[in-house]
Amino acid sequence: MRLVETKAPPEASPLEVRGVTAAYGSEPVLWDVSFRVPEGQLVAVVGPNGAGKTTLLKVVMGLMEPAAGRATVFGKPFSKARQLVGYVPQRGSVDWDFPTDALDVVQMGLYGRLGWFRRPGRKEREKAMECLEKVGMGGFAGRQISQLSGGQQQRIFLARALAQEARLYLTDEPFAGVDYKTEQAIVGLLRELKAAGGTVVVVHHDLATVPDYFDRVVILNRRLVAEGPVDEVFTRENVADAYGGAVSYLAGGE
Ligand code: ADP
Repeated sequence: MRLVETKAPPEASPLEVRGVTAAYGSEPVLWDVSFRVPEGQLVAVVGPNGAGKTTLLKVVMGLMEPAAGRATVFGKPFSKARQLVGYVPQRGSVDWDFPTDALDVVQMGLYGRLGWFRRPGRKEREKAMECLEKVGMGGFAGRQISQLSGGQQQRIFLARALAQEARLYLTDEPFAGVDYKTEQAIVGLLRELKAAGGTVVVVHHDLATVPDYFDRVVILNRRLVAEGPVDEVFTRENVADAYGGAVSYLAGGE
């Protein structure tokens, strides 16, 4: 008799946060936060300044140990899944004293595959160039990264995440300080990543574009206010709950 597998094992979520409480010193900035991101979705994390959005990313990436709870990436701690994650840091958060050009930064995305001791060859350079061209930065390959604008640096990091062929992309305010055209270009890229089966989590500031850009939203103000599909949870009540009653944005156009 053959045993037939009747149930496929449940697919691990690209990102699962379970009961996370995190603090700098004694005051918690995240309080018992839990949610699960399904695969292939564009997800915004919103909340007022100081809501703990960046702290949440730090916990997810293992840069900060939570006081309680845990975060997993494809069912594993970040350290065991880092090759699956493409991270695009917040503009201005990277110290560019280190002299490196745009092509180098994109090639770094390939090191995880290559192993640290193999030098990138022609194939890798071609792949990196291809990714730079995809983000419209092909003409800047040899430019020192410190001599690029914030929006251009964002695109270089997106190119690196593309080169890496990550399955989960984490980006911290990719639209901060970029012009409209760049914002549309970045949104187009995020949609491409999704179309290729990727999951994209974006710390986002502009409430007005949430319904247009995202499938799901995590509304945070130290505790989780709501999480789910934009058309279900991005309501006036939930937004007001997170931001306080003074918010003038009318969610969902009600
Ligand atoms: P957000 O990204 O939503 O604006 P953060 O996660 O950056 O919020 O910050 C949450 C809270 O934690 C804020 O009150 C902030 O001042 C505080 N905080 C952030 N980083 C540190 C730190 N390194 N040391 C002490 N407090 C911090």
